[in-house]
Order: sequence, then C-alpha cells, then structure tokens
Amino acid sequence: MLQGLSFEVFPSNTTIGINKLFETLQTLQQLEPEFISVTCSNGTNNVADTTVKVARYIHQELNISTIAHLPATYLSKQEVDEVLYELDQLGIHQVLALRGDVLPQLTPKADFQYASELTSYIKEVAPQFQLSGACYPEIHPESSSRLTDIKHLKKKVEAGCDQLISQLFLDNDCFYQFQEACELADIEAPVIAGIMPIVNRNQALRLLKTTQTKLPRKFLAILEKYEHDPIALRDAGLAYAVDQIVDLVTQDVAGIHLYTMNDAKVAQHIVANTQSLFARKTVSLVQ
Ligand code: FAD
Repeated sequence: MLQGLSFEVFPSNTTIGINKLFETLQTLQQLEPEFISVTCSNGTNNVADTTVKVARYIHQELNISTIAHLPATYLSKQEVDEVLYELDQLGIHQVLALRGDVLPQLTPKADFQYASELTSYIKEVAPQFQLSGACYPEIHPESSSRLTDIKHLKKKVEAGCDQLISQLFLDNDCFYQFQEACELADIEAPVIAGIMPIVNRNQALRLLKTTQTKLPRKFLAILEKYEHDPIALRDAGLAYAVDQIVDLVTQDVAGIHLYTMNDAKVAQHIVANTQSLFARKTVSLVQ
C-alpha cells in the first residue's frame, strides 16, 4: 500500500456508468492507494444506491479502505441513520461528513445546517465511524474572511473530525499559508492535500468559471499555449500536478488525495512519476 496517496472517484447514475467505474477501480486497485473516497450527489435521495454501492465494491471486492462522502443538508437524521446503518453492515466505517452546496431550487432540511452538526451527530450515534471533514486552503466561497472560515473549521474538527481533506488548489503556497493558519488556531487534525491534474480544455474552462482557485502564472501560461493542443495540454497538466505533489511531499504533507475524475490513466501517470516518494507499507507474512 502506498501510504499517503489516496484517490477520489464519483459514481454514475446509470448501470453502464457504474460498471465502467468498476473497471476503472480495478485499475486503481493495482496502484495500491491508502484509500479511495466516493463522492455523493447533494440533494438526491439515492445515497444508498450509488455512493454506498461503489464504496461496497471498493471495500468488499477490491479490499481497499474507502471513505463514503455524505452531504447532509438535504437529509434528515433518519436518512443519515439509514446510510450509517448500511455502511456499518458492510463493514465500512469511514465517512466524509459534509454539508454540501445549498442549491437555489431546493429547500434544505432542518436537521443539519453545517457539517459540524453532522459530525457531532455521527460521533454521538455511531462512534465506530472515523470522520473526515472538508477544508478550503483558499477559504470557502461563502466565508467573509480567513479568520471566520478557520473558526468554523476549528469547530468542525472539535465536533469530531479525525482528518481534513482539502479542496483542490494550484498554488502550493496557498496550502502552506492555510496550514500555518490551522497551526495558529491549534487545529491539530492532519490535512490531506487535494490535487486535481487539469488535463483537458473543458476541465480548465470549468475551473476558470466556477472556482475561486488562484491560477498561478505558470499554470495560465500552460493554458494559453496549449489550449488547442489536447495532447500537449494533457502532458503539461500532468507534469504540473506531479510538480505540486513533489513539493508537497517534500514538505511532509499529511497525504495527497488525487481527484482522479474517474480517469485511471491520470492516476497511473501520477503514481508512475511519484511512487518512490510515498512510503510503501510492507505486510509481514510471518506470524
Ligand atoms: P461546512 O463545513 O458546513 O462549511 C460551509 C460554510 O459554512 C463555510 O463557509 C463555513 O465557514 C460556514 N460555517 C460553518 N459552520 C458555521 C457556523 N456555525 N456558523 C456560520 N457559518 C458556518 N459536495 C457534494 O455535494 N458531494 C461531495 O461528495 C463533496 N465532496 C467534497 C470533498 C471535498 C474534499 C471537498 C473539499 C468538498 C466536497 N464537496 C462535496 C463540496 C462541499 O459540499 C461544498 O464545498 C459545501 O459548500 C460546503 O461543505 P462543507 O462540508 O465544507 O460545509
């Protein structure tokens, strides 16, 4: 197992899509990640059908540790209980406790306004679960300041987060400044860095449109030069992500969580180019 390297995948709503994801997961298994997390659509009632189904496959068929994402703003306590029960029955005891985005077309349920409330609820009703929380090196978009965001994050960690997984970022200095702010606030949970290799134009355009991610000069130069050359853009995007990871691991980051976008080839490339930086857990066969 490569200690310190993990992957994120997202489930599909169709049977064909899920079967394709299972094939992708078989390739990811060979890369021996520490864990694979499975995202969950917010505001839908099919948590059990999709996220849990994929998490079950990772845990039972591939024998890899898995984290089920659980955004709860549109879930009641009873619905959360049902998901936890199902995960518990499957032997899966890791959840990324999320609020989820508030969608204009839906009215949130009243039980969980913030992720910290979900976190303390799970700790109370199902203490066998290990909980992760989301964090934002460049501040959550709804927060008015770094200070407010860090205060809320501290509350979430105190509610019971065992570790934090970060939003993607392209400027490592933003991550280091965030780590410093966490240290100053005595937030002791390990922070795993979320890295998304940008490997095609659509992905880059989405990033430009929808996130507040700081785009460093080096990254913008890649986009400008290779925007219309898909192969070069992919190569440069992968090299950029490898460069980020080398720097982070060298600075002793707690872990790298790779947003794979269900592209096994991206994960294969990253592992092939960084494998020696991650500790490999040796399993002793001698009792
Ligand atoms: P919270 O921690 O509740 O924070 C949300 C906002 O509320 C922040 O601005 C925070 O500062 C503020 N806040 C917190 N507590 C308080 C308080 N007591 N009073 C006032 N303000 C407060 N979304 C999905 O739908 N599905 C996924 O699978 C998914 N996976 C993700 C994985 C990672 C690693 C990350 C980083 C994000 C993921 N998201 C996912 C997106 C996430 O749901 C959104 O960013 C959402 O807007 C915030 O969720 P949260 O759990 O961070 O919320």
